[in-house]
Formats: sequence, structure tokens, C-alpha cells
Amino acid sequence: MAAIKHRRTALERVEKFISDTYFTDCNLRGRLFGDRCPLASLSYFQTPRRIPYEEAVVQEFGPAQVGQSFGPTWETCWFKVELSIPSAWAGREVHFVWESDGEGMVWRDAQPVQGLTKEGEKTSYILTRSLKESEPHSLTLYVELACNGLFGAGKGSMIAPPDPDRRVTLSKAELVVFNRDVYELLVDLEILLDMAQLLGEENQRSFQALYTANQMVNVCDVMDPSTFPATRDLAAAIFSQRNGESQHTVHAMGHCHIDSAWLWPYEETIRKCARSWVTVVQLMEHNPELTFACSQAQQFEWVRRSYPGLYARIQDFVAKGQFIPVGGTWVEMDGNLPSGESMVRQFLQGQRFFQEQFGRICSEFWLPDTFGYSAQLPQLMHGCGIQRFLTQKLSWNLVNSFPHHTFFWEGIDGSQVLTHFPPGDSYGMHGRVEEVLKTVKNNKDKGRVNHSAFLFGFGDGGGGPTQKMLDRMKRMSDTDGLPRVQISTPDQLFSVLEKESSQLCTWVGELFLELHNGTYTTQAQIKKGNRECEQILHDVEVLSTLAVAQDKEFQYPASQLQQLWRLLLLNQFHDVLPGSCIQLVVEDALQYYTGEQGAWLAGPSRVGASPAWWGCRGSNPGTQSTLVLNTLSWERTEVISRPGPNGKETLGMSDLGVALVPHIKSAMEALPQVWVCDTCFWPFPKEDGSITMENGVISVCMDTMGHLISLRLMDFERESIANGCANQFALFDDVPLYWDAWDVMDYHLETRKPVTTMLKPLEVTLAGGLRGSVRFSLKVGKSSTLTQEIILDAMCPYLRFQTQVEWKEAHKFLKVEFPVNVRSTSATYEIQFGHLQRPTHWNTSWDWARFEVWAHKWLDLSEHGFGVALLNNCKYGASVHRNILSLSLLRAPKSPDSTADIGLHQFTYAVMPHQGSFQEAGVIQQAYSLNFPLHVVPASCAPCPAWSAFSVSSPAIVLETVKQAGAVPVSSAVVVRLYEAHGSTVTAWLQTSLPVKKAMLCDLLERPVGWGLSLEKQGLRLSFTPFRVLSVLLVLSC
Ligand SMILES: [Zn+2]
Repeated sequence: MAAIKHRRTALERVEKFISDTYFTDCNLRGRLFGDRCPLASLSYFQTPRRIPYEEAVVQEFGPAQVGQSFGPTWETCWFKVELSIPSAWAGREVHFVWESDGEGMVWRDAQPVQGLTKEGEKTSYILTRSLKESEPHSLTLYVELACNGLFGAGKGSMIAPPDPDRRVTLSKAELVVFNRDVYELLVDLEILLDMAQLLGEENQRSFQALYTANQMVNVCDVMDPSTFPATRDLAAAIFSQRNGESQHTVHAMGHCHIDSAWLWPYEETIRKCARSWVTVVQLMEHNPELTFACSQAQQFEWVRRSYPGLYARIQDFVAKGQFIPVGGTWVEMDGNLPSGESMVRQFLQGQRFFQEQFGRICSEFWLPDTFGYSAQLPQLMHGCGIQRFLTQKLSWNLVNSFPHHTFFWEGIDGSQVLTHFPPGDSYGMHGRVEEVLKTVKNNKDKGRVNHSAFLFGFGDGGGGPTQKMLDRMKRMSDTDGLPRVQISTPDQLFSVLEKESSQLCTWVGELFLELHNGTYTTQAQIKKGNRECEQILHDVEVLSTLAVAQDKEFQYPASQLQQLWRLLLLNQFHDVLPGSCIQLVVEDALQYYTGEQGAWLAGPSRVGASPAWWGCRGSNPGTQSTLVLNTLSWERTEVISRPGPNGKETLGMSDLGVALVPHIKSAMEALPQVWVCDTCFWPFPKEDGSITMENGVISVCMDTMGHLISLRLMDFERESIANGCANQFALFDDVPLYWDAWDVMDYHLETRKPVTTMLKPLEVTLAGGLRGSVRFSLKVGKSSTLTQEIILDAMCPYLRFQTQVEWKEAHKFLKVEFPVNVRSTSATYEIQFGHLQRPTHWNTSWDWARFEVWAHKWLDLSEHGFGVALLNNCKYGASVHRNILSLSLLRAPKSPDSTADIGLHQFTYAVMPHQGSFQEAGVIQQAYSLNFPLHVVPASCAPCPAWSAFSVSSPAIVLETVKQAGAVPVSSAVVVRLYEAHGSTVTAWLQTSLPVKKAMLCDLLERPVGWGLSLEKQGLRLSFTPFRVLSVLLVLSC
């Protein structure tokens, strides 16, 4: 019978029919569960540690009740659950229902079987889908309950520091009969209701869905299940009305973004992986179509070690092509701050792991949630067997909307990768109508491509997909009015995008995130640890590789190095290195760094050939001399300090010949004190308290507060400093809108206050000879203090600022500024294996949105023939506006770590005025030298000439890495990685004194590519294009 259907009443009628709030006494939702039955018994024990199952179950369990609270935060409760299913429930589907605000894991027969997480919509474990007489009605389960939520335990808000006293409540634990037919109807009606509401009144499909739903309510008698099949048939009829050929296809893939540490510590992440993944595997057993894209080798490794049974099941589903390792990296790292070599190792460690464990490497890079993407990544992906990239974070841009979802991304060397941002702007979809419609509507490349990714599953804190998400999407697989939704794989998606790629646009250069720009500065100790450990691992590898060539007895510390690299790579995770994590994570991260430094400093017994190892290799134990080791590939003439006989330091001059590593016997004994006079400089105080220093290269004048009044190149009469006031510290109010540790907002620039309170005026601390230095102290903010030593070394082209800050601020941002007499519309910043330019003006929104940017070891502002560079040894945040170079030093956010950055900081930066371009002036090399100090160690041998292992004929080429090859089963194969640093096309000769038998180019995974290289008299001839990274495999004859 035809009836009048008022749109609003019809809509709300259906809403109420499936509501879990209203009319549950008589609506369909109220019939989802049937009979209930309490547990036979519930007991528990509590522990502050995260312990294995075997250890847990032998503890003494005491009684526990539903309604009871457990805690405090980060503790674990193990529950013993004894249950007995009533025999009257034969033939019924029976669930064990468990609701608490902690994260639970069900164990059955000593194996983890399912995660139970209220926030992840998982509150029941299916005991049987149809109870049979023959199956046991009584059984014992264990529930491991972490006293933290899916998003940690923030006090008052998600990103607030964790509440140490939070308690979690067990609000439900019982057996219930689950009415599957009611559930299926609820999902039908939910989809129809969403279609009716979201397709809109101008769309007839909206009304078709609405009237169908209305008719279903008419047909369905909630108390009479015999009416359900006819009701379902109505839904099936509309869902099976197909789309036309032109409809968009949504490629749905299960996903679970698990932050390797964030609002919870690393240790908890191991359990988050297990809880999330065991649930996925269990879903796959009942849904053979389900696919799940899973990144981060480190997380696989955690599960492999801690949950071998689960890992074996995962391996089965990997083999079936359902559980799909993606990404190729060790962790989903920060996309800006890791060095070029670190990024290579993210892929090398990741891809090797995936190859070893699953027999194949990943073919797509997967980094949906990091805070910007280096313009060097496309080349690094190519070198690691990857030409596809998936992310979505640029949808968070605060200022400009990124113009594409599918495009070619071109890096600084010209490498291109096919890049896809899921147009729904999320990696945590729930399979809802609203989301698939957004995916189509939001797609910025309509008409160019007709396929897009749709990642479904609870994420960030884990959780993953649910049965309900799958059931929703089944109904949307091909229904007129909605895009086609097919369960797919990354490979299927990218393959079809590749076929459609002829119309795609290209984006050149970095993918800069216009948000979270405070993450270049927050948690300065983590950043410093990262830079130091990158330097340490570089040096360990160089010195150990050469030790193998020098000493047949020496064993290359391959497995220890792998371990140390993996710790460093783990700390590069996108909430750790950026500093957006809680205090517990900061403590873990700093401990890992200290461990790395300790392992290295402990010398030969721990990790390979330390400088001390080289020093004590002398044949003449009685002789005392000094050994200087240079781990860079160019000559360095620098002031070195040696411990003197009476404990006093003495300065000397290292004048190394071409030396990557000088031979053990190249000790620096007779230091050329005599010619020091020629390069002397004179810290010269004047009456007004200002001091001038000169070293034959530069001349600097400083006022009593340490400002640079003047800075000149001595053979070039030009003043570098504008307005007579550089090295000016400035403090800014730093209160973002929400993401405290993450964000510095544009308006902070309006709150600039120069630091003007002097504690101790400038005084001379070292009066000439090889080194001159001056010192002063300032009061910063309310109660912080800053002491700085400004150092000028003989022959050195830069002035060094060794800085110590006792930092006690709240929501303040400290920077140091260098206004310079240089005019240029762009400044240059070092990135991984290269550099790029960013504007110094704020013309367009794309320009001013980059008011705070990142750089690695240097930035430079140059005009033709002259410029000024700013170098640093552990900072990343920077900016150049007009003619002012700023280095971002310290922040003081309070969430999620209220103690962030409070305490003592030591860091060094340097200013280098130069003639010519920064390339010609050697800025790149000087920044390396600042970051890779010469090693000066006592040696037990007589002085002898320097020995060089490697040199490169062109100053445009940086030899970055020397390491033992890992993939080649020959222990004496060495990998040498070089890159073109000037942005030029150049041919260079690599010379080595190692006994090379064979040489060939290899990719970043150390797989040989192309023909062998011919060994000529001048060495190996290598051709570079701008910013090209080349790896050479050298097979040695020793
Ligand atoms: Zn994340």
C-alpha cells in the first residue's frame, strides 16, 4: 500500500529503530543480545611489569568483581576467567563480553586470541558461532589488562601528560547470546540511513534508500525473527542495483596505524601490536577476502620475539597475500630530521628484514603520519627498490590545500615516484558511507585517475579493523550512488594508478607540512642524541672497515652495529625524534642514545675499532705520541687539543694530508708551534668593553653582551653584519592552538623580545696562540641563564659559539639571530645528501606558511660573490626572513611532556662569512668538520707520515659512508657511498689505498647494478648529476 512519506519523520523513524539510546525496549537494537549469564568465577593479580603469559598464570590470583577499578597507570592486571555456557543455549552464538577502559588481550590455551578494547569497538570475544552439544561448555580464559587506554592516560585531554594515578574500571564481564540476524539488519539499516541522509535531497538514490529503510521497519517485527529474511531481502534488492562503468573505485585495505611510541612507552607498543594483529588474524580466518597493510619492520620484529605463535599465524597470512608488509622501512620515521644515511638505513634494515622474513621486499613506501617529507626521499626510495609512495599528512596543512591526491613527486635529483594520498584524508576509516563519499568528492585529481585508497581500521594507538567495518563495505561493493568499494591491496591500487598515470601532474621539491613546525626544535636532547649517534655510527663504521683492511685478526662488529643502528632508527620514529612524546618515551630514547655512545667509547671490546683501538696498535709501547684520526674525505687543518702531561690541555695543529683515516703510525708528535705566529690572532679588549679577535681569515668585534658588532673576512673589506648586532638572542611567546609540543604558530613572531639582561660581561678566556676565546653570560626570560664561549681557531673560516643554557621556561621559544648584509630572495638549507632553496620573503601564502623550516648542518644566505652561512652541531629548526638568519634553539611545551626541555643544554653553532658561493667557499665541508671532530688519542708509536684510505678528486663530491657490505657473503667487501653536494654535473675520481680487487656500483640495498667499474691509475671514475647518490661496492683482496 502506498503511503505518504514525510522525509524527516521517515528518517528519524529509522534512526530510532536502530538507536542504542532511544526505545531500546522495543526497537531492533534492543534485540541484538539475548540471554545473559554471569561468569563462573573471576580472579586477578596485578603487576607493575609487562610479563609473559607463562609467568603470569602461575601467580596467585585473588577475587575480582565487575565494577571494580584497577591501577595505577601502566600497571597490568591478569584476570583468570572461568566460564560455563548454559546448555540451554545450544545452537546459539555465544559471546564473552568484556568492557573496560583499559586495553585487554584474551588468552586461550596459552595463546593470545583477541584484543579487547572499548575505544577500538572490540568488547566481545566469540566463544562459539553455534553452540554444539559436543563442545566443552566450561573453559578458562585469561585477560591481560593494561591499565592505560588506547591513547595512553592523558589527564584531562588526550595529549596532556599522563595521569600517574588513573584507574581503569571493569564495567562488564559476562556471557551473552548474540543475535547475528539482528546484527545484519542493523548494518543494512545503518547504510541505508546514511545513504538517505548523505546523498542529499537532490539525489533520487537518497529517497530510494530512505523508502526502502522505511519499508523494512514496516516489515520487521523485532519480536518475530521469522520476519527478518523478508526484511533483509528489501535491503539486498537496493544494494544489488549496480553502478555504471564510470563510477570511482575505492580500494579498501585494512590498516592499523600503531605509533611505535607516543602517549605510551615502547614496551606498551609491543603489546599494542600483538593485541591489534591477533585480532586481524582472527578476522582473516572468518573473512578470507580481508587484506591488511602493515608497516614498520621493528613492530614485526617485536612480535616475532615476544609472540612466536602469533607470528607464525601472521607468516601464514603473509604467504596467502592477506597480511601485507608495506613501507620497507625499519619504522615510520620522521621525514625531515634523520640524516641521508639514516634514511638509507631505515630502508636497508627494513627491506632486509622483509626479505629475510617474508621472501620479498616492499614495493611501496608507506608513511601516512609524519610531519613533512624530504625532497631527497624519491631518490632514496628508487635506490631501495621502491617507486610508489603513500601518505596523507599534508591534508593537515593549516594554510594551503595541497593540490593533488595522486601525482608524481620529483626529488632534488629528478627522481620521480608515483605518490598517492588517500583522498578521504585519513588512515583510520571505519567503512562508513560518509567516508567513501568524501573519498570521491575530495579527490583533487578527478578525471585523471578513477581509483583511490581507503585505509580502514582504528589507528594511532592500535586497534585495527573490525567485523562491522567489513560488513558495511560488503554492502557498498557495487551499489548505484556510492563508489565501488573493493577490498584491495597496495599493489592492485598502484598498478591501476600506474596504468592511469598519463594525465598526472608532477610536484617538484619537498612536501612541506604547514603545521607541527615546532617539532624541529622540541626535546633538544633527543635531537642532539640523534645527531651525535649518527656521527658515532659513521665513525665506527669507517674505522672498523679500515681496521679489517689493516688487521686480519680484526672482526667487523656487524651484529653489534646492526643492533645500534636499529636503536637509532627506532628513536627516529615520527613521535620520538620530533619530540611529540611523553616523558617515559624521552627517558627510553635518551637511554638508547647513551647506550650507543657508551658502546662506542668503551672501545674495542664492545664495538669495533674505536679511536683508542687505533691508538694502542703501536709496535712500540714505550713511545708516547699522539694519533689524529680524520673520518672525512678531505684534508683538514684544525686546532686540536691534547691532554698534557700534568693533566692540562695543550693545543696543537693537525695538518693532515689527504686522510680519511691516517695510518696508525701517522702520529702527531712534533706539532708545528713555530708557524703558529703567522696565523696568530689577538683577542683585543677596548675601553668600551668590546673585544676584537682575528685569525688571519676573519676578524670579529663583539660587545659586552656577546653581540657581533662586526664580522669581516680579512682580505675582503666588506662588513657581514647588518645593524651592528648579530648573535642576538630573542625570546618569543610560544602558545599554539592545541598541539603543544608540535606547533609553533605564525603569531609567535609578533611577540619577539630581545634578550637584554647581562649577568657577566664579555671577558677573554683564552688569549691567542692557536685559539682565542671570550665568554659572557646572560639572563634569559624569568630565570634561565645562558653562558657562551665564542671561539676563534687559527686558520678556521668560522667563528664558533659554544653555548650552555640552564633552561627553566614555560611556553617560550629561544632563537638566535644573525642580521647580515646580504640581499637574496632565497636562502639555502642543507637536507639529506644535498640542499634546497626556500624563499626569504612572504609574497604568497605558500611562502609565509614556511615561516619556520628545518635544515641539517648548515643554512646559507648568499648573493653573487658573497654570503654568510650558519652551521650547527645538533639543531634543526631555522628560518631566514629578509636578511635575518635565525637558528631555533629551545622550546618549552608542556604537553604531552610537562618537563620537556627543562634543564641543562649544550650546543654549538658557528657563523661563516664567505667570498664566492657557499659551494666555492667550502661551507658544506666546514659544516661536516664541525659535526665530525678529529679524534685525537694517545698512541704508542713513533711519528710517521699520514696515511690515507680514501680521497675524492672533486670538492663537489662528499664521501659520506664507508661500511662493510652486508648483503654480499664476502666479509671483505666494502660499501662506499658518495653524493654530489653542489648541485652540479661532475665526473670525479675515487682514490683508495685499500687493496681493491673488483669494483661495481650497487643500489642502496647493496645489490650490484650494471657492469663493474674499471680500476684505473687515478682510481675509480664516477659520474654524477646534481645531488646524485652513488654507492660503490669494493671487493678487497685481503
Ligand atoms: Zn603516527
